Amino acid sequence: NSLNGAFLPRPCFGQLSLRTTASTWRCTLSIRSSSSPSAIVINGKAEAKNIRDDIKIEVSRMKESIGVVPAEDSSEEEVLKSVSGFNDDPSVHGILVQLPLPSHMDEQSILNAVSIEKDVDGFHPLNIGGLAMRGREPLFLPCTPKGCIELLHRYKIDIIGKRAVVLGRSNIVGMPAALLLQREDATVTIIHSRTINPEEITRQADIIIAAVGQPNMVRGSWIKPGAVVIDVGIKRVEDPSAAHGYRWVGDVCYEEASKVASAITPVPGGVGPMTIAMLLSNTFTSAKRFHNFQ
Ligand code: NDP
Repeated sequence: NSLNGAFLPRPCFGQLSLRTTASTWRCTLSIRSSSSPSAIVINGKAEAKNIRDDIKIEVSRMKESIGVVPAEDSSEEEVLKSVSGFNDDPSVHGILVQLPLPSHMDEQSILNAVSIEKDVDGFHPLNIGGLAMRGREPLFLPCTPKGCIELLHRYKIDIIGKRAVVLGRSNIVGMPAALLLQREDATVTIIHSRTINPEEITRQADIIIAAVGQPNMVRGSWIKPGAVVIDVGIKRVEDPSAAHGYRWVGDVCYEEASKVASAITPVPGGVGPMTIAMLLSNTFTSAKRFHNFQ
């Protein structure tokens, strides 16, 4: 481990990595276990395609019925004016502010300018507030956490009464994921960077959602046999043996976890495609709401 550069993920069981920090040469030795993983692979890519296909059919039906045309992207200039224009334009049903913005712009004032009815990202404080409060319904759920829950539903994984652990508490993933699981009647614990003994807490979970941005942090030994693992994390790490010199790594050590978990999302091909599908879904929901379309 002392040879590993800080940019490297923790090596997983069955995959030994040896590297130096010197930029002139690197060596990676991989030993993969021959025993095959037992967990069901939760295929976000396939489910996302199903969702996109369904929305495509529904959008065609809606277009035929009321002739709505989706809006074009906004320009980078006069963003506030554009946001205001999109807010007022009944043919625009969703507004997404692609971050980061150029440094001369105030991110918060632009985000706050988005009408809550068109906040398809679900990040508006009123949407998050609605998510957190009992008896309130947010207009939109944040896309990545919504995608995680959608995968659990589509794979018929019980949530009610289950112990869930969410690793990470960011505004865009961890915190809303924990709120959503709670809404689904799971008993939820959140792990963050100051949590003492995250391994022990994670091991109690029936459902794990990992969103820390720390490659391979969740090891096989952290997972209760039969638990369901949703890996949101995705980081690009150098790998000279890979075709492009890098590979994508999640927060969960897939090789180890897939032997212990009952179901697990791969990285890539798990949560990422679902995020995009949920953005489409939120935008379509908004369009239907605007046109009172059933
Ligand atoms: P942030 O950096 O905003 O938040 C990371 C969270 O993880 C923080 O709450 C932080 O704790 C916690 N954390 C960091 N290190 C540790 C640690 N060692 N132990 C315990 N907790 C830790 O990240 P995001 O939420 O934006 O993203 C998380 C990951 O998900 C990233 O890999 C990102 O690329 C990926 N992602 C994937 C998406 C997808 O569609 N697949 C969409 C969005 C994100 P604290 O609050 O104490 O600082």
